[in-house]
Amino acid sequence: MKENSDEKLMPRPPIVAVLGHVDHGKTTLLDFIRKTNLVAKEAGGITQSTGAYEIIHNDKKITFIDTPGHEAFSKMRTRGAQAADLAILVVAADDGVQPQTKESIEILNSTKTPYIIAINKIDKPNADIERTKNTLTASGVFLEGYGGNISWHAISAKSGQGVNELLDLILLAAELENLTFNPAAPAKGVIIEAKMDSNRGVIAAVIIKDGTLRTGEKIATPSAFGKIKILENFLGKSVKELSPSSSTLILGFETLPQTGEEFLAGEDALKIYAPAEKIINNSKPHEATASNDILNILIKADVSGSLETLTEIIKNLAYEDVKINIVTSSIGEITDGDIKEASSKNAIIFGFKTKTNKIAENLAKSQNVKIVLSEIIYELLDFIKKEIELLKKPAPLAEVEILKTFSQKGKTQLIGGKIISGTIRNNIRVKIFRGESEIGFGKITSLKQQKKDVSQVPTGEEFGMIIESSATISPGDRLFWTKEQ
Ligand code: GDP
Repeated sequence: MKENSDEKLMPRPPIVAVLGHVDHGKTTLLDFIRKTNLVAKEAGGITQSTGAYEIIHNDKKITFIDTPGHEAFSKMRTRGAQAADLAILVVAADDGVQPQTKESIEILNSTKTPYIIAINKIDKPNADIERTKNTLTASGVFLEGYGGNISWHAISAKSGQGVNELLDLILLAAELENLTFNPAAPAKGVIIEAKMDSNRGVIAAVIIKDGTLRTGEKIATPSAFGKIKILENFLGKSVKELSPSSSTLILGFETLPQTGEEFLAGEDALKIYAPAEKIINNSKPHEATASNDILNILIKADVSGSLETLTEIIKNLAYEDVKINIVTSSIGEITDGDIKEASSKNAIIFGFKTKTNKIAENLAKSQNVKIVLSEIIYELLDFIKKEIELLKKPAPLAEVEILKTFSQKGKTQLIGGKIISGTIRNNIRVKIFRGESEIGFGKITSLKQQKKDVSQVPTGEEFGMIIESSATISPGDRLFWTKEQ
């Protein structure tokens, strides 16, 4: 909207998504908010969901995305084409932060979506607000009053206690976002869900984010196009035009658009989204810069929704000095073809909610291809972080495992070890590690095998050595010889 001049802009209501761990009360909260709002009551039976509903709180409109859970939300994360302006992260007070809470936090951070916390189920006897806050702090969510600026409110989605105050907080957060739209611009928005109906054709539930959407207009997404025949507001009424942040059903797409895609209406819609060309571009591997270290990744996932989510989150990860290059991403089991591709591109395979077939598993072992499988996005992201750390560390020229210590006189220590990788030489300086921590360094002053002095020892062999170090070396420690020493 930067191209629009200020006087044309009008304020628009916030669009809010609800995220959180399963069973923490997302649906109950959305239902309570819907039930207690007049508009929906007047509507009586709403037959078909537009994927979102609108309420009035303190005379201000708020649009809620009706599909709870991070999957529905996170598919819509391409910046600019993101459906939600704000999010409520629901955390049950009797359970605290759980895996999907963490996953939601990752998604909110990576999409830079402002959010507030609803500490839910405070009516339960075992609710513990303090403990819940502590688990949030431990997960990097710094609450207001606890050294941070993330607003929170304690609620019971079941009884409705605190929900009004939660809605106040949403309106406050929305004010800070200064959400506007240009009524004269062609409409823009996000596809929430789309399906084929045997009687009515393609029905797309969308949220409008800018402009004015009218019947009779051309409409397109990167993968679909059409002409708007019917617009239905969230109450199921047929209307001629709608403005942001309305949710609506659109009839008139020729082909099925995909969840999370941005749509554009108006004369230029089709020119901007030349569908075929866009899809080919999307499947190209990303360009990697040659100067930096590169972590090559091949992504596999169970369904296209989760593949999009994971790919988008990984694309948005930014690390100093290391570039992440997504070699390919596709859905289905990990096959021998994937292993061959990963092997040729020196890539790690990330499998989300998928598995490796037997042939591929054996091939991966023989070709030394790393496969990481998980059902939880943040676990995969953690793994990426670890791999990046490894890439940043210079590869050791040699690694030694300490097997025995024989004697120590001051700094001079007589010890026995085995070469894990590389070749060790006499008169080199090595770093000493205990587990993950570096405990000191030492200088090798003598190397012996079968009681004979040697100048070097290759991979796999055991040896004795004299090392000068102020750190006392123990069995299990590791020595690393790196370039810079
Ligand atoms: P979702 O998976 O996050 O959508 O969770 P649901 O809304 O389906 O809630 C899971 C269970 O917790 C249901 O049995 C709800 O009735 C219950 N529940 C949700 N909110 C509350 C609450 O504030 N208090 C109590 N006591 N139960 C709740």
